[in-house]
Amino acid sequence: MNRYHDFFCNMSDEDWEKFAVEVLRCAGFQIQTEPAYGTDGGKDFIVSYNDVNYLVSCKHYIGSGNHVGQDDEKNIADRLLQFNTTGFVGFYSTGITTGLQNRLDAICKNGNYTYCIFDPPKIIQIMQLMDTKILQCFGLYPHKYYMNVSEEEYKPLKCMICGKDILTDENIPNSLIGLAQKVNGKYEYAYGCKPCFIGVNLLYNSHLEMEQALHVRILQGWEDMVDEWIENEDIKLSEEFYKHRSKFLNHVRQRQLPQTEGTWYGLDL
Ligand SMILES: [Zn+2]
Repeated sequence: MNRYHDFFCNMSDEDWEKFAVEVLRCAGFQIQTEPAYGTDGGKDFIVSYNDVNYLVSCKHYIGSGNHVGQDDEKNIADRLLQFNTTGFVGFYSTGITTGLQNRLDAICKNGNYTYCIFDPPKIIQIMQLMDTKILQCFGLYPHKYYMNVSEEEYKPLKCMICGKDILTDENIPNSLIGLAQKVNGKYEYAYGCKPCFIGVNLLYNSHLEMEQALHVRILQGWEDMVDEWIENEDIKLSEEFYKHRSKFLNHVRQRQLPQTEGTWYGLDL
């Protein structure tokens, strides 16, 4: 189960049609007619792309999990004729059957017809490019932070002073990483909540925000800088420096952002 699945499931048939308009718009289609949702269910609507008019058919079967088949899409060729369109778009919350695929291939082989199926993987890919506000209108509240592991696998990262987990959604914005000077003058690779670190002497008064650490590249830059300090500066490290450093690096990975947005990240259909 993933959040996209839940998001699709929570949409009504009517919402699904309105959502189709937004996704297709984002994919570069121009909306020619808006879907009209009546008591007898959804009606096809028309979009265009590169001077080709497409008839859009929405099917929202995610509740049952059934794939869209030939029986669900009757008389495609007639409908295309009726609406004077040469393209067909299926906007589906489940996949399509081989039967329907073959049918569409046959229709498009004969004549100048073309078709395009928007199924969940394709829709989710386009969603990466969509305005968050639009997604929120349809009930998707993207998590501010990623969680790359399951609840059972998750290992907290405890503030080195108070022991609170600093990788929770609430605590991420209030946590930092730095090289803290201990009473014996040695430096410790330290992480924890900001309030706990008030009064702690950090090397060069520098710290990395936990929010920054969630970006792979920024974290890499910080780690390179720490290496330089260790190499070039006259500082003594605590015995546990590397242990704490590797613990931090291992744990923070659980919440890091994907390196490239818009990939299949988050998809575990
Ligand atoms: Zn703390």
